[in-house]
Amino acid sequence: MLTIILRGKDCVIENEKMFSDAGKRVAIVTGKNSARISGALDDVVKVLVKNNSEYVIVDNVENNPDLKNIKEAANIAKSIKPYYIIAIGGGSPLDAAKAVAVICTNDIEPNELFNGNFPNDPLLIFAIPITAGTGSEVTPYSVLTVEEDETKKSFSDNRVFPKYAFLDHKYTRSLNRDITIDTALDSFSHAFEGYISKRATRISNILAIESMKVFFNNYEDIFNFNMSDKTREELLYASTLSGIVISQTGTTVLHSVGYALTYNKGLSHGRANGLLFPKYIEELYRENKEKLEGLCRFLGIDDISEIIEKIRSLFPEKIVLKEDELFKFTQDTLKQKSVKFTPLNIDYDKIYRIFKSLG
Ligand code: NAP
Ligand code: FE
Repeated sequence: MLTIILRGKDCVIENEKMFSDAGKRVAIVTGKNSARISGALDDVVKVLVKNNSEYVIVDNVENNPDLKNIKEAANIAKSIKPYYIIAIGGGSPLDAAKAVAVICTNDIEPNELFNGNFPNDPLLIFAIPITAGTGSEVTPYSVLTVEEDETKKSFSDNRVFPKYAFLDHKYTRSLNRDITIDTALDSFSHAFEGYISKRATRISNILAIESMKVFFNNYEDIFNFNMSDKTREELLYASTLSGIVISQTGTTVLHSVGYALTYNKGLSHGRANGLLFPKYIEELYRENKEKLEGLCRFLGIDDISEIIEKIRSLFPEKIVLKEDELFKFTQDTLKQKSVKFTPLNIDYDKIYRIFKSLG
């Protein structure tokens, strides 16, 4: 994990030297409103004004950005000839910023990001997460919507690990209940999937268990939306830990089934994972009893049904998929590379059952 992490209240303001050292022209890549609402943009602008930097605010990044959106963002960023990129956002702007950082130094179209063929180093990225979910501030991944393939695809390159991640939980105070729950579940799913992944290591497992513990220790507050500053800080800590986990292990097929729901049904990334999670755990448990029972012991939980019930309570809604949707989503998922890192003998029926469990 190649990112330097700076944590704590006001860490942007307190580390202004890192910004001035990176150059005096910068593109800030962010979403439509949240950078302003959260107060993160204010802090960044204060730092940039103080060190006489020129900046452009690229605030057109949409949720689950597609390649057209990336191209527009890159064109605005390029207009200032930036030395580096400041990414402020949830996962959507952070991932968009990674794509923009590559396109600014390489003469390529966004769809060429996926073949990894960009010879020039991307611009440095300073990442400021304002959701507590994706961990994108510490991963080499950028997940983008590809309309042509009717799904989400990611590219990965060690050169897009952010140079710095600034973790200040005060920016997450403005998250409403739904986004708080959805993003917390995304973070939990990264830790859980990293833990059961075929690519898990002893070190990634230590971090995954710590992250899952923090989630469960704060579960009642998340459920009741009783968000103190301490809870916000804990959730941001957990999501960064989970990001470090997946930077080593990647995710598993739960993320792939989730992408189908996000692309086709418009559900947020975390909610899609959350709705599919209970059935996914049931399927995993049949083939990985010992490992999951071990996990319950580490987490101080009686048995796996407690994890399933807790997640189900956060996402009680039902979605009935039509037979042709079930068929298409299942077929598409079977082609995803996450299948081979999932400790399940995956076949059509298992994936079908996971989608079918929604209704
Ligand atoms: P998001 O899509 O970035 O944002 C969701 C919504 O939350 C947006 O409407 C956003 O507003 C709002 N929002 C964000 N921060 C806020 C704040 N502090 N206060 C109030 N509103 C706020 O959500 P996300 O769940 O963080 O990111 C999801 C994306 O990350 C997906 O594309 C997913 O595939 C990707 N992802 C990436 C990785 C990785 O390793 N790179 C891992 C997991 C997921 P604005 O519209 O104003 O921004
Ligand atoms: Fe995720």
